[in-house]
Amino acid sequence: MKNHRSARATAYAVVALLLVAALRYTPVLPEHRPAEVLQQGERSAPITLGARPHSRTETLNRGETLIGLLRRAGVSDASAKEVVRAATASAVDARYLRAGMPVDMTADSAGESPRELVFHLGIDRLLRMKRTETGWSGAEERLPWTTDTVVVGGTIHSNLYQAMDSSAAQYFPARAKDELAWAIADIFEYRVDMSRDLQDGDTFHALVERLVGPEGVTKVSKVLAASFTLSGNEQSAIRFETASSSPQYYDASGKSLRAQFLRAPLEFRRISSNFGTRFHPILGRLKAHKGTDYAAAPGTPVRAIGDATVLRAGWSNGYGNLLELRHRNGYVTRYGHMRAFAAGVRTGSHVNIGQTVGYVGTTGMSTGPHLHFEVLIGGVQKDSRVALRSTTGEALGTKERGAFDQRREQLLATLAGTPGVVRLAQR
Ligand SMILES: [Zn+2]
Repeated sequence: MKNHRSARATAYAVVALLLVAALRYTPVLPEHRPAEVLQQGERSAPITLGARPHSRTETLNRGETLIGLLRRAGVSDASAKEVVRAATASAVDARYLRAGMPVDMTADSAGESPRELVFHLGIDRLLRMKRTETGWSGAEERLPWTTDTVVVGGTIHSNLYQAMDSSAAQYFPARAKDELAWAIADIFEYRVDMSRDLQDGDTFHALVERLVGPEGVTKVSKVLAASFTLSGNEQSAIRFETASSSPQYYDASGKSLRAQFLRAPLEFRRISSNFGTRFHPILGRLKAHKGTDYAAAPGTPVRAIGDATVLRAGWSNGYGNLLELRHRNGYVTRYGHMRAFAAGVRTGSHVNIGQTVGYVGTTGMSTGPHLHFEVLIGGVQKDSRVALRSTTGEALGTKERGAFDQRREQLLATLAGTPGVVRLAQR
């Protein structure tokens, strides 16, 4: 208690000194908006005079308890314990707050113990705690999100991430931009192999529903339509919901984008942008190299490109750990150099499309972690880009065609328009 008092006395003295200094040398103190104070942080926060509120932001360090943070911020132990009690009463478990969580503190003046604390629990959740005469009390607040739609579009030079960087950066922050690239890759995963099929000069457009949260946080809600022009060929995807099924993506002719085979044995989102563009396999030794190589980090999950029966899951000299799948249409697919097979994958077992069947490695005759992938038709290796090319998919019923055509016209016209935030008539 004694320490607390003398600390307070010191603070008052400092404020008084500064007040004198301020009056002598700076006739007008600049106004600081809360956002500026928040960004500037503790060290450069302005000293406000009189009874004007003083705000600052502290961040919870890794491994630090809430009590630790409050103590660091000059809150007395007794008061800090009360804050934790009150926070817990507001259904927030103080033991499991995330590291990096910002806490805004507002006091009546600098040096005063805070009277209001705002814990930023998540991007749209905060806990506001106030000190009253009877102690601390708090309530959780939900912050509203708004929805809008935005058209992004660009030209591919090296890969989809790069194309997103140059076209979506102003509408989506880094993380959301990657999510958008992944979402687009997922939509086209039966038609386009995003890590192999894109070439310099190809273009893409996407019409994206965006969630804009408090403080400008942005998330991808859903992709309403997207299109690629790959070597002059246009591929479109239109999100459409029928009375009997959940939303799905259809091409311009009304066929579902779902097909019998996925175009790639690795999920695009699992391949780091560092891989694929820099990879140059030294494969001169494998004379008849008739497969496709996917460079990826060791351990990256490998997926079955279609429903199949396992023909072989074992060691095969140059291929290392090799998996062979036989598909219903007679195609055989091979996955080589794998570090390991997924649990339960053995000769004779059945696997489903998209199921993880193994993990990328560098076993056998391999110079670095990658997946060697082959498609065999009648026992002969074929170019997977040709063999797996798909234009099939279940077509929409005639009853849905009218509504679909209307929606398609609307979305594709918007997609072809100027990039930016757009208004879209509700269906
Ligand atoms: Zn290979």
